[in-house]
Amino acid sequence: MQNNDIDFQPNDIVKTCKYLEKGLCFQLWGLQCCCHGSKSSPVIVSTEEINNGSVSYDLIVQRKKDLFLGINGKKNIDLGGCKGCSHLIEKKYKDVHFDYIGGEYLPGAFNIQHYTSCNEKCVYCPYAQENKFEIPQYDILQIWELFRKKRKLKGNNWIDFSGGEPAILKNFNEIIDYIYKNKMGFTVVFSNATIFSQSIYDKLRCNKIALTTSIDTGIKSKYAEIKGVDKYSNVISNLVQYRNSGTKKLWIKYVITDCNQTEDDMWSFIMAMLAIRPNKIQISPEFPYGDKQISVETVKYAAKLWYNLEMYCGKIVEDGVSAHGDIKIVQYHKQLKKEFDLLKTKRPMKKDLRLKQFNNNPSLILQFLKYANNRIPNNKIWNSIRYYAGKILTSWGIY
Ligand code: SF4
Ligand code: SF4
Repeated sequence: MQNNDIDFQPNDIVKTCKYLEKGLCFQLWGLQCCCHGSKSSPVIVSTEEINNGSVSYDLIVQRKKDLFLGINGKKNIDLGGCKGCSHLIEKKYKDVHFDYIGGEYLPGAFNIQHYTSCNEKCVYCPYAQENKFEIPQYDILQIWELFRKKRKLKGNNWIDFSGGEPAILKNFNEIIDYIYKNKMGFTVVFSNATIFSQSIYDKLRCNKIALTTSIDTGIKSKYAEIKGVDKYSNVISNLVQYRNSGTKKLWIKYVITDCNQTEDDMWSFIMAMLAIRPNKIQISPEFPYGDKQISVETVKYAAKLWYNLEMYCGKIVEDGVSAHGDIKIVQYHKQLKKEFDLLKTKRPMKKDLRLKQFNNNPSLILQFLKYANNRIPNNKIWNSIRYYAGKILTSWGIY
């Protein structure tokens, strides 16, 4: 790191963090280095500074350095969540860099949530419940451009595109195209799938993005109760279209709230998953903001849902909570594992209960393979056709 004002020697050991050096999160209130669930860096450049024209490449780099100096006791500034953060590591001062952003596959190192507007009103969404839906507060492409023009915007990133509902943004396609034109990396789009996006479909088709959609039940009326809008049928038809893209990156989420912990919710959801065949299913309790706790009933329901989903859909279920440092979440993970193991001990999983036939209508290829294996003689061309047909079926999990 080049900065003559700072009295560190090149080999001095300093505290830093990958997000501090390479991350950039677009929040309503400005730019942050990270925005993890319960811990995040302070704002380094405010929305006001972006909109009044003060923001520049040099300003962002300088503010990151200021935060670094604060963490290392050289400057008296607000450290926000950086104080005592578990992501801090020690390394030599000469290896610390703030001149570029990106370049590492860090979960959420680029995070797009500079707006909160949405066409749903989920019971567990703080923005919806507090009526704080806001349109985009600034142009995020303008910020990335500051770095790109100086060749300081690196690729190989993990980008979270949430909000709000991304698909209703006027420049949603433009942002997605910018990411891929500049080879910035892999994007997880958090969309409620109430409206179909051709851009999402096209990028899913070539596995350039992952789509995460929370359904939280398989009952239409319950969906309307949780989401505040009666859009279940739209969501299902859009998900079926996204499934038909042939993607390997369709992820569905179940957020457990107080009102979707019945057997009907669970089994209707399992049936929907057997039909849609997501590549991942994420289970998460409603986030325990402030005084809110995760109840014992919620943990038991999460374990039962996980157990049954894994039994019928296979090992595609995973934890949907990322705030691992939060004590309530640590506790939740511990109890969840205990309950899950208890269920498995009582009733061991049977592999033959797992549904094997995937979508993508494989019957023609399957018939061809059987025919080819029995009748067509071995030669180079037919062997490679057989090989690739087998590969396709294997990727669908059926051969
Ligand atoms: S809050 Fe933690 S992860 Fe985020 S920039 Fe600060 S030290 Fe890094
Ligand atoms: S879909 Fe997402 S942004 Fe919209 S109300 Fe629900 S949680 Fe909030």
